[in-house]
Amino acid sequence: MHRNDPCWCGSGKKYKKCHEAFDQRIDELKFDVFKGQVRPPKKIINNAADVEAIRKAGVINDAALDLAVSMAKPGVSTGEIDKAVHDFIVSKGGYPSCLNYEGFPKSICISVNDVVCHGIPSKKTILSEGDIANIDITTTLDGYYADASRMVMIGKVSPEAEKLVRVTKECMELGIEAARPWHWLGDVGAACGAHAHENGYSVVTDLGGHGVGKDFHQEPFVPHVGKTNTGMLLVPGMIFTVEPMINAGRYNVTVDEADGWTVRTKDHSLSAQWEKTILITETGTEVLSS
Ligand SMILES: [Zn+2]
Repeated sequence: MHRNDPCWCGSGKKYKKCHEAFDQRIDELKFDVFKGQVRPPKKIINNAADVEAIRKAGVINDAALDLAVSMAKPGVSTGEIDKAVHDFIVSKGGYPSCLNYEGFPKSICISVNDVVCHGIPSKKTILSEGDIANIDITTTLDGYYADASRMVMIGKVSPEAEKLVRVTKECMELGIEAARPWHWLGDVGAACGAHAHENGYSVVTDLGGHGVGKDFHQEPFVPHVGKTNTGMLLVPGMIFTVEPMINAGRYNVTVDEADGWTVRTKDHSLSAQWEKTILITETGTEVLSS
């Protein structure tokens, strides 16, 4: 690429005034293949306009989560919450990304108790006192995606369930704190996993976080266990989710054969998950949806 050409990131700026120094910095690094250290592909580096578009999708997504959480009370069905969130996102000009995604039948995922993720909302699934549930929402706006999830505790829950929900949130926060520009993706999983294991929990490894932006799911895959200084290099402009799934029992999960979606703990122990979409910035991270 010539220095006066438009930059590969699509900013419209000349390369020499945009990503030339960035590319040089990466070129100077030594990637340790034995640690799985890899250079991030250019197609997952977002420019300022991309980030602004994802930020806007995130504003709607966060408000949709606020609505869903406010509805999560004993006696309410997960189907009712799904319908309300669907109508809200559409009223804001967005689209609930899960709807029809690879055949997923509803607009959001609600995963109760031993359901790890991808729970299908239903009028027949009634939330009741003592339940814990993850509500996971993704919004598409103008072709850009923002993805986040939160836990709700229905009425009074057991101390064990409360602790699992709290520690899982801490795992996510520690993972996000560990995400730093010019460091490595493995740092994120190392931080999430260490905190879960210190508390006697296990971490789901079959599923993980993911790059998000112009696609719902893109590189990198974000593991929630791992070793520091391994995996993909984190650079400004990367956007991905941190979404640890933490089990009170063992890490093993099964997928419901009948619906093809619902992921449960194999031992039927409780599972919790929190998720944010984050941007790697020049100095740290910015949360784009939570
Ligand atoms: Zn650029």
